[in-house]
Amino acid sequence: MAMQTDPVCGMRVDDQKVGSKSQYQGTTYFFCSDECKRKFEQQPELYTIKSGQAQGGGQAKRGGTGRS
Ligand SMILES: [Zn+2]
Repeated sequence: MAMQTDPVCGMRVDDQKVGSKSQYQGTTYFFCSDECKRKFEQQPELYTIKSGQAQGGGQAKRGGTGRS
């Protein structure tokens, strides 16, 4: 038995008891619920990006637009 992390909500799930899982790019992801699985499958790239990268939205460049 091993604990996996639900990439959507961050909850720890037991991969022996987990109800929902999904494969994406050769990796199996485990979810605490069908709801999390559904969110993942809608936008898997949102949950599989490595931390440190931009997290969806807010890609506007800063600087230069502060003053008219
Ligand atoms: Zn979850």
